[in-house]
This record gives sequence, structure tokens and C-alpha cells, in this order.
Amino acid sequence: MEKALFIRRGTRKEVSMEMINMHEKQQFMDDKKLIAIISEAGSAGVSLHADRRAKNQRRRVHVTLELPWSADRAIQQFGRTHRSNQTSAPQYRLLFTNLGGEKRFASIVAKRLESLGALTQGDRRAGPSLSAFNYDSTYGKRALTMVYRGIMEQDSFPVVPPRCSDNQASIEEFITEAKVALVSVGIIRDATVCNGKVAGKLSGRIVDADMHDVARFLNRLLGLAPDIQNRLFDLFISILDVVLHNARREGQLDSGIVDIKGKNIELKEPPKTVHVDSLSGASTILFTFTIDRGVTWESAKAMLDGRENDGAGSSNDGFYESKREWMGRRHFTLALEGSTEGIYKIIRPAIGEALREMPLSELKGKYRKVSSIDKVSKGWQDEYDVSSKQCMHGSKCKVGSYCTVGRRLQEFNILGGLILPVWGTIEKALAKQVYQNHKRIRVVRLVTTNDNQRIVGLFIPNAAVESVLTGLQWVQDIND
Ligand SMILES: [Zn+2]
Repeated sequence: MEKALFIRRGTRKEVSMEMINMHEKQQFMDDKKLIAIISEAGSAGVSLHADRRAKNQRRRVHVTLELPWSADRAIQQFGRTHRSNQTSAPQYRLLFTNLGGEKRFASIVAKRLESLGALTQGDRRAGPSLSAFNYDSTYGKRALTMVYRGIMEQDSFPVVPPRCSDNQASIEEFITEAKVALVSVGIIRDATVCNGKVAGKLSGRIVDADMHDVARFLNRLLGLAPDIQNRLFDLFISILDVVLHNARREGQLDSGIVDIKGKNIELKEPPKTVHVDSLSGASTILFTFTIDRGVTWESAKAMLDGRENDGAGSSNDGFYESKREWMGRRHFTLALEGSTEGIYKIIRPAIGEALREMPLSELKGKYRKVSSIDKVSKGWQDEYDVSSKQCMHGSKCKVGSYCTVGRRLQEFNILGGLILPVWGTIEKALAKQVYQNHKRIRVVRLVTTNDNQRIVGLFIPNAAVESVLTGLQWVQDIND
């Protein structure tokens, strides 16, 4: 929370904002004040739940006046009043008018919460993708740009705008109305009315920064008359649907959930119950998996042979050895030409197919082709074995046992089941981590290879497991 100075009305006494917030919070928890008003910016880390340790144990009613547009922001806001060690769970009341825009927002948030049910009710199946309900996503930005380009007549709309027929006149009418609306809320700037051939036509510009600013669009939308507000919002949503549909069809949809993939994913040990909510009896479960990313010599050889038998291969397909030694070893790879000529897929013994494909020039610069099958098979198997437990940096690695670079077998932890009431505890434990990418909460989805079990939950880095478990244990002790 930022420190700000606040002058109390009447007293002229300067008190820091933080102090006032803490004081007010205490008044609420002590049952001296019955209403707490929080803003998103000022509420980070604040707990207002019906805590067993607080005097005020009344059931909380959490009224949301402004709905957040991203799933994790929503969950954090709701988490302010819904924590472990509470005597009752809060009631959430989403307040909205029946104006189109707001109503739609509310339904979206409701859907989003439903999808989060996958995380809150101990349901292990993956819900619908979070970002489908997240307007301020890459896809939302793309859709908004299409809305604006259509209205500015730089492009045609990919859909017929709401309540327009296919005929050009009705679309032009809509465009004119939309332009007037966008001028009135300051999104179209420098508006002028044209003369001559297109007399009466409105022209102007939308600055680049606004072209994909979804939050600004949605905020300004609420300032418009209901009819045009609804039509613009519906247009945005139907274009977003097209964008999402296309992305899904091309297999590029980023679901907001990171998929963990590996040839071989297995539970390392039976799932552990690490927290039980005293109120609902629902539990939080830690799953520890072993992921094997490697490719055995036999399967690598089979991949190359398969290519050659199909006659699909390129003359540069084959096994390569690195020209330089790295940490005392040369590395082996299998290179196969990908879908683009001259660009090669790189398959390594320890980590399987690399994310990045390599141009032939780079491949030839860094590696030399090996024709001796004996040499390759020995080198490949050796690397496969060494990488099972050791990272690429060898025994002298600075990161130590948590380093996963080039490591074939990895341990991977997912916290599933009931998450919301322990969100704050996890947040705190992760914040203490040394590495930046360990601090962020990430929702991941994983499918086991042996029995096709789908598990959705929070990714817990190996280095943070102990700290998370300690935090949860502490919460449990207070509860019991
Ligand atoms: Zn390392």
C-alpha cells in the first residue's frame, strides 16, 4: 500500500493514509463499525472476513459496485472477505443496473466465478477457459481494434453489426451513430464534419494507444445512452467471439491456464491433504508429479527412420553433435526439417523437442552431423542417463538442486482442491521466494499420461513447497 498523507476534515491534523486504513479496519473487526468500504487499489493484503479471533463475527455481505475485468483480480477482491479461520463464509452481492453494458459485465463475472468453481469446490476437471471471459486479453484487444477500424471505415466489420441487415445503408447508419457516440465520450478525437462529396459525414481519429485499450472502451461505454451502449457492446462481443473461435480453431487459444506437457507425467506419490477448511470440510490437496521430458535413443532413432521410410526427410535430417563443449560435454540432438523449408525441429535426449526451431545456418554453425550410429547412440544414451537427475550445469550449478535447466526428470507440484480460502497464505509464501518467476501465482493444468487424469490448480515451485506447507499448517493450527 502506498503511503499517502491525508488531512482529516475539521482537525487539519495530518495522519498517514495507511494508519487511517488500519485504524478503520480495526474498528470494523472490533464490531465498532459495521460497514467497511474498500477500493481495489487500497485493499491489497487486507482481511475483513468473519475471523474467529475478531470480535465482529457477523456473517459478511460483500457488495461489489464495480466488477473487475480479469479473473485473478476478481478472485483477489472476493478473497478479502473469504479466508480460512472464519465462522461463516461471506455472501457476495454483485450490484448492477439493467443497462446492457453492466448487465453483461455481471453475467460475465458470474460465468467467470463458475469457471473458478473448478478451483474452489475441489473439482478436478478443467472449467471453461478463464480468458474467454476476460475482455482485456490479447483477443479482446484484437477485437476492439476491429471494432474501431470498422467504425472508422478503415476496414469492414467481420460480423454484421447488431440490428443491422446485410444492406450497406443500415450499416452506414450504424457507423454514423457509433461515430457520434465515440466522439461524445472522447474516443474519436479532432472530429470534423466533411464537405463536398461526402458532406455531413463525420471524420476524426482514434489515437494508437486507444485502439486496443479495452478498459478505456468499457469505461467510456458506460457513459453512453443505453441503446448505442448495448449495440457497441454487442458488436464488441460478437467480434470477440469470432476472434476466439478462430484462435481456438488454429489451436492458439491461450486459455489463461498454462498447460504442463510431457511425454510421461505420473504422480510421484499419493496426493497429500495439506489443509482442511473447518467450515466446509473441503480440503486443499498437494499433488506431486514426476515429468519425464526425455526421448530415448530407440524413439529418436525410430523418428529418423520413420522420416526416411516415408521419403519425407531432407538431406540435412539426422543426428548432430555440438561443436563446442559445454560444462565438459558435447551435446547430441536430432534435427528434422519442420513444415518450413530450411527450418529444423531440434530434439534433445533430455528435454525432447525444443520450443524454438532452428534455421539450417545456425544448425550447421553450432553442430556437426554425425554419421557413426555407434557414436551417436552412445552419446545420446549417456546424455539421457546423466540428465535424469542433474541439471545442465552439472554438480557445480549455482542454483542448486532446484535448477531444472536441461533436466530430464522434474518434480512438479500443483495445489488443487479448495483454493480460495488459502489464497492469501499461498500469496504470502510465494512473495518470499528469491526468484522473480516463483513469486507469481500461476494456474496450471496437467494431464497425466497413464490414466489421463486432468488436474487444475496452482503451480507451486519446488523451492516454495516448504514455505507454502508451513503457512498452511499455521492456518490449520489456529483453526483447530
Ligand atoms: Zn543448473
